[in-house]
Amino acid sequence: MAFPALCAVCDTHIYYDGICANCWPKLEPMPEPACRKCARILHHQTITGCCEVCFLNPPIITQIIAAYRYNVISKSLILKFKYADRLELTTIFSTLLSPAFNQLCNPDTLVIPIPLHPARYCKRMFNRSSEIARNLCKAHECTPLYQPSLLERVVNTERVGGMRRSQRAKTLKGAFTINHQKQNLLIGNSCLPIDDVITTGSTISEAAKKTFECRCLTGKCTLFCKRALIDNIQLTSRLI
Ligand SMILES: [Zn+2]
Ligand SMILES: [Zn+2]
Repeated sequence: MAFPALCAVCDTHIYYDGICANCWPKLEPMPEPACRKCARILHHQTITGCCEVCFLNPPIITQIIAAYRYNVISKSLILKFKYADRLELTTIFSTLLSPAFNQLCNPDTLVIPIPLHPARYCKRMFNRSSEIARNLCKAHECTPLYQPSLLERVVNTERVGGMRRSQRAKTLKGAFTINHQKQNLLIGNSCLPIDDVITTGSTISEAAKKTFECRCLTGKCTLFCKRALIDNIQLTSRLI
C-alpha cells in the first residue's frame, strides 16, 4: 500500500513529493533586478548591475544568486530542514536551487558547502549545505568538483542570527580555514560556496576570504534565500 507524501511546507497529504498546490504559488522567486554582488533587490536596473553599497565597497564575492525571497513559505522550509532534521527535503532544495547553480557553475568550479564545526556536526549529524551541494553536483551535467572538506570550520561560533553586521563579522573572523592537503586545488580556479540563507553575507565573505588567500580566481555563491534584515523584521512582526 502506498502512503501519500506530506507537503514540505504545511504537512498536508499530497500524492507526489514536494510542495502542495496551495503553498507552491506562495514561494516567491527573487524579483528582478537584484544586485549581482549581494542579491539585494533593486528598485531599478543599474549600469553596474549592483547596488550602491556594493558599488562603493565591492564585496569579496563576485556574484551571488539567491533563488527565493525569504517569506513565510521559504522560512518554513528552512526551519524544517534546519531544526526538524527533515533530511528528505534535500531533494526539494536541490531542485529549487538548480537553475541558479547552473548559471554559476563551470566544469572546473570547486563547489564548497559552508562547513559546520565538528561539534555542531556531531550534534546534528548532517550538514544541510553539504547535502544540497552534493545533490546539485550529482544532477549537474558537467560534473563540477564537489569539495566538502576543502574548507574547515575551526571555531564553534555562537549563532549569528539576530546580530548586527559588525557583530557578525567580528564573531565569524577566523572561523574558517583551508584544508592544507587540498589548498592547491584553489590556485587559478573559481569556487562556489553553497549556503541556505544569506542576510548580511558575513559568513560567505569570511569563507571566501580564505579561498582567495589561496589564490582562488573568483568566488560566486548560490543560496536558497535572501533574507533582508528589513524582511526579517516585517516577517517577525507578522508571525507574532
Ligand atoms: Zn502545503
Ligand atoms: Zn549589493
